[in-house]
Amino acid sequence: MKKYSRYAVRNRTLGFDMITSPRKHIIASIATIIAAVILASLIASAFGAASERVLIVFFISLIAVVGMGVYSGNSGILSFGHLSFMAIGAYAASLLTLPAQLKIATLPKLPEWLATTEMGLLPATVIAVLLTSVVALLIGLAIGKLEGSAAVIATLGLLIIVHGVAIGWRDVTRGSQTFFGIPAVTSLWVAAVGVILALIVGRLYRDSISGLRLRAGRENAIAACAVGVRIRRERLISFVISAALMALSGALIAHFLGAISPKKFYFTDTFLLLAMLIVGGMTTVTGAVAGAVAITFVTEILRRFEGGFSVAGLEMPAVFGTTQIGIGLIILFAMFRKPDGLAGLKEWEERLFPGHPVGDENAVSAQNVSTQSLTAEDMTMKFGGLIAVSDVAITLNPGEITGLIGPNGSGKTTLMNMLSGVLVPTEGEFFLGNEMLSGLVSHEIADRGIARTFQNIRLFENLSVFQNVFVAALSTRDGKNAHARTTAALARMGVAAHADADAGTLSYGDQRRVEIARALACEPSLLFLDEPAAGMNREETDNLMETLRGLTIDLGLGILLVDHDLKLINQLCDRIVVLNEGHKIAEGSPEEIQNNPAVIEAYLGPNRQD
Ligand code: ADP
Ligand code: MG
Repeated sequence: MKKYSRYAVRNRTLGFDMITSPRKHIIASIATIIAAVILASLIASAFGAASERVLIVFFISLIAVVGMGVYSGNSGILSFGHLSFMAIGAYAASLLTLPAQLKIATLPKLPEWLATTEMGLLPATVIAVLLTSVVALLIGLAIGKLEGSAAVIATLGLLIIVHGVAIGWRDVTRGSQTFFGIPAVTSLWVAAVGVILALIVGRLYRDSISGLRLRAGRENAIAACAVGVRIRRERLISFVISAALMALSGALIAHFLGAISPKKFYFTDTFLLLAMLIVGGMTTVTGAVAGAVAITFVTEILRRFEGGFSVAGLEMPAVFGTTQIGIGLIILFAMFRKPDGLAGLKEWEERLFPGHPVGDENAVSAQNVSTQSLTAEDMTMKFGGLIAVSDVAITLNPGEITGLIGPNGSGKTTLMNMLSGVLVPTEGEFFLGNEMLSGLVSHEIADRGIARTFQNIRLFENLSVFQNVFVAALSTRDGKNAHARTTAALARMGVAAHADADAGTLSYGDQRRVEIARALACEPSLLFLDEPAAGMNREETDNLMETLRGLTIDLGLGILLVDHDLKLINQLCDRIVVLNEGHKIAEGSPEEIQNNPAVIEAYLGPNRQD
């Protein structure tokens, strides 16, 4: 138990502690955030009002960059629409703080209750943030169904629509005219408190359970679903949190400038804030800070040149847009030289003190022993005109290893994809005990105790080995005993020593082992392995064989094993199913299969290479 205490999430406290990274990282990060913001504020106030103004704008921009990062960085979906939330926050808060007399004079059509309301910045901001969160929830529900570039384009649509509303809704926003008279109450210390809050929220979300799941989904959506992650739900959570931070930024900038208009929350600033996010690195709070510093620094310098200057007697004319061009060039530079941003994919404290989670050899996970068999009938999969799997029936029993063999392209992977919810069968049904599983999506099937690995390895490459397995443990079986299940699975697969390494850096064999560990952390009753020995040498394969045997004997798991290594299959399997061109051509014990003429003809025939 003691070994786990450096982790904020412990078995006993799950549900209260939502943080998945070592406690020292979080403490180091938060302490540094607070210290750095206070120090910067003190220095700026010592230099006078001009530098205070620069720092206030910097802080408010940073809140927005962190806000964008909470969604885009963790989900991997770039958003062009986040300034809409900044606009909603800005207008909502300003409507609440604007002096009543001014409202009656400049916005005569406001409803009475709103016209007479006049509150301070704090309550107005809280209300604006809550309102924006509700709007974001509704929008997120609507556009959360989109994937890939459609999702990105939808955010662009959002920006344009909200801009249009801001211009058109004259009775409330004064349209494209300046909305003036907002009390300018955002002082340096108000901005400082805001940015501390935003940085802490951003940092905590990244390493929260939801944030870790979302990052796993960003790395590999299919694999994340297969270990029980509900990607859409996590996306929605991050979308709402990020919108709330944007609203905070909007409320503060409105009360700093004293006047706003719809164009303040449109393409120019979207471009500026996205530049900060991309140049610094989307996936970390460190990156948000680095990007905001770099871009602010460069724009402050370029702005001085924009109005024209003279060097050694040479008069340079004023060039409109110098700043924009400069930012564009920096983005290009970043894309070529630092595609992950200045800060890369890790927070500074993660680089400085790696976590070293130690696998506990003695940790035994309370295996969920199932006595239910999986039965599938008439399984058929058509891809257009191609029938990849045709009318196949298969039964998988607990404690038994079933081999699934057949030449390349015979439909083994397709069958496995159907049984794990990755593909929806064209025909056929399958059951676990009496429960029908066909029709369920892959995270629902994972919840029912079926876990798998993939023929082409699908790890969360930029997450550590520990996190790869931990995500699976957190997302299945309600996350119970997640830590113990993670360490037990790592130890069982012999990869505990690599716990701290990024999964993508491991050798092929170790990556396959991590994939099996990740599947085991789901505490399955059935395990599907798609060519687990591919790329392993003889010794590694023999090792794997021992391990797999242990899984059935110690844990009572049922295994469906696809492999081309017939020695592995014959020694390990209780029963073998043979596919050829989508049809099941034989089923039986290894001896029966070895002597089956149809199998010899189809699979072991002299002309077959595999
Ligand atoms: P195996 O795993 O036995 O090598 P697969 O199940 O991968 O075979 O493939 C069976 C057949 O289905 C092959 O002809 C393959 O080209 C085809 N196939 C597999 N997946 C798809 C897909 N997503 N779209 C179209 N055809 C596919
Ligand atoms: Mg295959």
